[in-house]
Amino acid sequence: MKILVINSGSSSLKYQLIDIENEVVLAKGLCDRIGIDNSLLKHTKKGSDTVILEKELKDHRDAIKEVISTLTDENLGVIKDMSEISAVGHRVVHGGEKFHDSVIIDDDVIKGIKECIELAPLHNPPNIIGIEACRQLIPDVPMVAVFDTAFHQTMPEHAYLYALPYDFYKKYGIRKYGFHGTSHKYVAQRAAAMLNRPLEELKLISCHLGNGASVCAIKYGKSVDTSMGFTPLAGLAMGTRSGSVDPAVVSFLIDKEHLTVQQVNEYLNKKSGVLGISGVSSDFRDLHEAAEKGNKRAKLAIDIFCYRVKKYIAEYSAVTEGIDAVIFTAGIGENNDVVRAKVTEGMQYLGISIDPEKNKIRGKEIDISTPDAKVRTLVIPTNEELAIAKETYKLVSRK
Ligand code: ADP
Repeated sequence: MKILVINSGSSSLKYQLIDIENEVVLAKGLCDRIGIDNSLLKHTKKGSDTVILEKELKDHRDAIKEVISTLTDENLGVIKDMSEISAVGHRVVHGGEKFHDSVIIDDDVIKGIKECIELAPLHNPPNIIGIEACRQLIPDVPMVAVFDTAFHQTMPEHAYLYALPYDFYKKYGIRKYGFHGTSHKYVAQRAAAMLNRPLEELKLISCHLGNGASVCAIKYGKSVDTSMGFTPLAGLAMGTRSGSVDPAVVSFLIDKEHLTVQQVNEYLNKKSGVLGISGVSSDFRDLHEAAEKGNKRAKLAIDIFCYRVKKYIAEYSAVTEGIDAVIFTAGIGENNDVVRAKVTEGMQYLGISIDPEKNKIRGKEIDISTPDAKVRTLVIPTNEELAIAKETYKLVSRK
């Protein structure tokens, strides 16, 4: 069965066509600069070089049209026609309290996703545009929505509620939702497979460390707490996002720097994190290079990043009441041995101890713990597209 996975952003649309039985990516690509000049489609067919095609992509409908025509193209394509695609899985950022799991898309689901726009004004609208464009162009193919927030809907009230007047929760839905759910759930399932134990028995701390970064406490297969909050701004220091700061800083800055609320938001989301601290870059490769050349602020940014991850692991060990495994995933978690070493340093008291040689291996599933460690430390490459395809497959085959 072939499943098309769509991740639709405001001016870009990523796609993968996955042969789900064999877990093989047949083709993948990106439509970029949708609705802007010089729009293009970047396409890679399995076993072939990436091609970049200049295309006029006025909107997301144009983008989906081009994806379909490229996938069915005689030379670049991998299928004869669209009837070979059994289902489409759409990534949707925010499912609010409405969606606890992935769902087959119908009119009511679209209405529900629209109701969550208020919670994710930048993300849900392009997700909906992608879904509606697909429904117009390939109306007979079943579609599934897979939400970043859904996995965290199992958090208990005492974990997701902020200590604000309760009315704000009732009136506006202000609470912790959490993100990266598809990734945390996927790596938790992979961890269970690696440990050869049922997920329902395991206490896991999953560290998704990419440009956006979050930690999730997973007890017996369920998310019980996570570091991102009402929005993806909370928690860890990230590439350009501040993570948690004292909320009083916002009004202080508005006052001192005569900033608008939008400007403060811009600072917190785009100019903070390791970029803000270092003044060098949001990318860890650049930070390490600068730190090695003696740049103190680059070193400080790495230290602050690692310190927060370490604190979350300890904090969540209290939430899960013990840990079977710590998981490192996403760009930094999968590739950055320096960060993994720094985060786990001195955590023997919790049973965490890693082997420096094994830690050097990057980008593949591996247990990097020392043989005597009570807690396994696992590196697991995430694969959100495959996870979306699997969820989609599960739902459409149930029909
Ligand atoms: P996004 O949240 O944008 O999907 P990624 O998961 O791609 O982010 O992570 C991006 C981060 O991963 C960057 O800071 C980058 O430096 C880091 N990264 C990626 N590959 C490597 C590598 N080989 N060594 C060190 N860091 C890496």
